[in-house]
Amino acid sequence: MSTIKFFDQVNQNFDKAAAYTKHDKGILSQIKICNSVYHITFPVKRDDGSITTVNAWRAEHSQHKLPVKGGIRYAPSVNEDEVMALSALMTYKCAIVDVPFGGAKGGIRINKNDFSESELERITRRYTFELIKKNFIGPGIDVPAPDYGTGAREMSWIADTYNSMTDSNINAFACVTGKPIPQGGVRGRTEATGRGTFFGIREACDIADDMKRLGLKPGLDGKRVVVQGLGNVGYYAAKFLQQGGAVIVGIAEYEGAIYAPKGLDVDAVAKHRREKGSILDFPGAKNLAKNSEALELDCDILVPAALENQITMDNAGRIKARIIAEAANGPVTADASEALLAAGKIIIPDMYLNAGGVTVSYFEWLKNLSHVRFGRMNKRFEEDVNTRLLRTVEEMTGKKLPKALFDTIVHGPDEEDLVNSGLEETMISSYRQIREVKHQHNDAISLRTAAFISAINKVALAYKELGIFP
Ligand code: GLU
Repeated sequence: MSTIKFFDQVNQNFDKAAAYTKHDKGILSQIKICNSVYHITFPVKRDDGSITTVNAWRAEHSQHKLPVKGGIRYAPSVNEDEVMALSALMTYKCAIVDVPFGGAKGGIRINKNDFSESELERITRRYTFELIKKNFIGPGIDVPAPDYGTGAREMSWIADTYNSMTDSNINAFACVTGKPIPQGGVRGRTEATGRGTFFGIREACDIADDMKRLGLKPGLDGKRVVVQGLGNVGYYAAKFLQQGGAVIVGIAEYEGAIYAPKGLDVDAVAKHRREKGSILDFPGAKNLAKNSEALELDCDILVPAALENQITMDNAGRIKARIIAEAANGPVTADASEALLAAGKIIIPDMYLNAGGVTVSYFEWLKNLSHVRFGRMNKRFEEDVNTRLLRTVEEMTGKKLPKALFDTIVHGPDEEDLVNSGLEETMISSYRQIREVKHQHNDAISLRTAAFISAINKVALAYKELGIFP
């Protein structure tokens, strides 16, 4: 385990990149610092009548753009350093994918499995209430979202609490994203981080020169992948990678890991886990005694999709994957990153690769503010235009198109199509931007450093536009 604090690690990476920029020292330290941290403790009445005290945080890293944005995690390991580090990563993440938000992160130090649903509801509503009291939540202030250990259910409690506490605010439901659809959620948000991870990995694998340097063929097809974590991010990333032609050879969860060189069917593994309570003993796969062994399996792409500090100097030397795709936030420590890069590997950095979640959160927030579902205005119009076009082609050629093909071409975009294509475009163009910055530095810097340079430049520009710095 690395002894360097998580926020210090983020800042080490920041400093390395900042050295390649020409910004004033003052502006760099303003960008780097975490602007405000709110630590709350509050009592929770358990179902058995006893009282437990809960520790919770919300960190707002940078208000250079408002609202600030970032998830809320429920985990026993949550602490102040962690939320500060994660809020900083949110600032850089939003800048990289051109989402106009500052960075924030929240966390409650609980193991969600130790609490009943009604206890979790009380905790979530009380936390929201505390945030409202201190102005740490609001559609134009700070907009939370799901993260490790939370999902649409928690977001719906937050939205409902906020809505009931604020007086006739027509935009109240834009106070949080990742909500269920009937409460103003957007289609595609649940899968967004995993889908974005897939788009990012696919784009990286499509660059023939980079793959050649790794001794791999371009393209995703046949690439052997190990995924750590079968939560929301890991599950969807693995599923889309499998659909995209990759072979999922290993999956790790906290109870252990499984390995099948010929490939695992992600949905079948998820079903097995739901039924048996464990991924172990999956038919046709080999059990690995320790989940950490999965990280060291022979594969082309390793996707850590759980928590931070998974690849450290203790295991970096044994990682066989050529590509480390950081779906989680901070899974590779700063010193382990150096070791992996020195060994000639590519690391696709977290602040780019898992930005799909916040990208689609941005779409959800826009939907909430505009009070209209994406596609509502243009779907029918586009279908009519496409129908007329195809009918004209049929008349002119005297041939009829097969019905299935006709219907596919005619189909106007609905909300999910627009969200997914907006996400795909964002992930592809952002990767190209980062790759270009790396190229401008004669490929002598890592993708992470390139991503940081790009983020620092964008945040510095935003500060200049605000007139705060010359
Ligand atoms: N928790 C996600 C992240 O770390 C999503 C944040 C958001 O949508 O605001 O990026």
